[in-house]
Amino acid sequence: MAETVYIGLGSNLDRPVQQVKLALQRLHALPQTQVIQYSSLYRTAPLGGLDQPDYINAVAQLVTHLSPLELLSNLQLLENLQGRTRQQRWGSRTLDLDILLYGQQHIYHPRLTVPHVGLYERSFVLHPMYECSPDLVLPNGQQLSEILPPLAQSDIQKLAA
Ligand code: ATP
Ligand code: CA
Ligand code: CA
Repeated sequence: MAETVYIGLGSNLDRPVQQVKLALQRLHALPQTQVIQYSSLYRTAPLGGLDQPDYINAVAQLVTHLSPLELLSNLQLLENLQGRTRQQRWGSRTLDLDILLYGQQHIYHPRLTVPHVGLYERSFVLHPMYECSPDLVLPNGQQLSEILPPLAQSDIQKLAA
């Protein structure tokens, strides 16, 4: 069965805007998968105030026949293809691809937790998701619009197209 999935993209190394744009193009080449749409790019302060450059973030909406773990493996290949080396959580990286939602499923696996752990709190994920799907209902039953923090009060900035 095909599922609608949302992927969070992030980069803060080696020309991050280009990294995210290249990754968006490469999502089109994923097997058994169609890209439906993607958000604008956003500039975001790093998580936890770590001493590292700002991030560029975006969200893509896909429809896929890949299983959750097949999708994760394909996304990790794309991360590696773009030179991701540091595996430290929240450390700087050329490309980070997170599975935010996989349909309405809850998944608890050693390699994969869905919805993604930060989904409900991270404005750099919620805002671009809202741009893709303003009527989205989350797996916990909440409307995305209900939990969206005001853009003006968050530490993200939408980049001009
Ligand atoms: P965060 O997950 O808090 O955004 P991060 O993206 O920096 O932090 P990574 O180092 O990229 O974390 O990922 C660590 C591991 O998280 C991956 O090896 C992967 O197996 C696992 N993981 C668990 N759930 C997910 C998910 N929903 N999407 C992507 N990876 C996930
Ligand atoms: Ca991440
Ligand atoms: Ca990740």
